[in-house]
Amino acid sequence: MKKVVITGVAGFIGSHLADRFIAEGYYVIGIDNFITGKRENIEHLKNNANFQFIEKDLGIEDDLDIKADIILNFASPASPVDYFKKPIETMRVNAIGTLNMLKLAKKNNAVFVQASTSEVYGDPEVHPQKEEYFGHVNPVGPRSVYDEGKRFAEALSMAFFREFGVKVRLIRIFNTYGPRMKADDGRVIPNFINQALKNKPITIYGDGKQTRSYCFVDDLVEGIYRVSIKEDIDGEIFNLGNPEEYTIIQTAQIIKELTNSNSDFKFLPPLQDDPKRRCPDISKAKTVLDWKPEVSFREGLEKTIDFFKGKLVNG
Ligand code: UDP
Repeated sequence: MKKVVITGVAGFIGSHLADRFIAEGYYVIGIDNFITGKRENIEHLKNNANFQFIEKDLGIEDDLDIKADIILNFASPASPVDYFKKPIETMRVNAIGTLNMLKLAKKNNAVFVQASTSEVYGDPEVHPQKEEYFGHVNPVGPRSVYDEGKRFAEALSMAFFREFGVKVRLIRIFNTYGPRMKADDGRVIPNFINQALKNKPITIYGDGKQTRSYCFVDDLVEGIYRVSIKEDIDGEIFNLGNPEEYTIIQTAQIIKELTNSNSDFKFLPPLQDDPKRRCPDISKAKTVLDWKPEVSFREGLEKTIDFFKGKLVNG
């Protein structure tokens, strides 16, 4: 049975990846320290014979001894609110955690998939963003702990690819949403849905004209699965996201409509270095992986709203 190591397995994306790989017949070894991940996201896997959990902080250098065919390195706070609160931990896991997992990939001759981010493009000056774009990042602003942490993780991964031939693949994940996000995660979709469901003001930072492009988690997982199993793509980078672009005001309007909410919009000061436009160019993933998102924004939102409604009812 092939083995997959997933770091950050108790996170939103990590837990969905665990489900997918188990469904595909893999044995999953998940690692998390619950700094931002939640036990309840992996509760249903507790008694699964094809799942093993290791509670561990990867931000401390370690020579892990685990057998693995594929390593998915997803451990890191990822919401701006979380990494503003945990800046050092964010840098540690992206630097030392990535080093640990790259050493493990080298030892096992495993495929290594590094979860990177559209944040490596910073506040982009080109639109939409292609993989070749170097980005426009403030190296010392509040977001830098995440942006530079992920840029370091990319650079380290490529060094292991060039130096040792580790089967590295980099994925730059654009805004993703869906069930198992935290209600208090701070990101735009869970914030707006929870505010709308409670008929509380919907908080818009700045003028709300900034844009994001939202990918439903099932679509993202499909893309990651393809990146993980495909041959002959070592050292390659893929943008994974949904290129349909919405302003934050449009996002608020759609969510208000789908939740039948009476919420007002409350305009708050803009966040520092908040990217003004973000939209992936996914032509590479389309051509090489034969992948594109299939779930419409409204369809994905309905599923996410149902998830948060269940949370409100069940506490
Ligand atoms: N945003 C907002 N109100 C909120 C949360 C987020 O207006 O309550 C905006 C935020 O300023 C940003 C966009 O929504 O422009 C996406 O923010 P998020 O934190 O989801 O992720 P980011 O894409 O910035 O990493």
